[in-house]
Amino acid sequence: MEKILIIGCKRAMNEVCIGCSRCLVAFNRREGKFGDYPKDAQILGLLSCGDCPGSTIVTRLAQVKLWNSPMQEVPTRVHISPCITDHCPHADEITAKIKNKAGIKVISGTHEYIPEKIFAGP
Ligand code: SF4
Repeated sequence: MEKILIIGCKRAMNEVCIGCSRCLVAFNRREGKFGDYPKDAQILGLLSCGDCPGSTIVTRLAQVKLWNSPMQEVPTRVHISPCITDHCPHADEITAKIKNKAGIKVISGTHEYIPEKIFAGP
């Protein structure tokens, strides 16, 4: 069974995209970058980068392993959310660190619910 860990921007998660709902809706609907997952796939967690400049991300990955080990829950896929891939000035470095250390498949992207124009349309 696939267990997905989503990694996002701390500042966006705390102050902009409250609740990370677009990532979760996309997963529940199997849309965006979640389109190929089977019904039994699960979200294991939503992890922030740890704040600018994302220098603690590897430690935070290790914490995910530590805190989930009593339940034998281990992520099988990492998704890096658009708040990092599309907006973070440190995105390349953070992504490289995650890819180097995760030891599992890392996918850039989650949901694709990005409004094109703020004041036009619904
Ligand atoms: S390092 Fe990037 S992803 Fe992390 S809080 Fe700063 S802007 Fe957001």
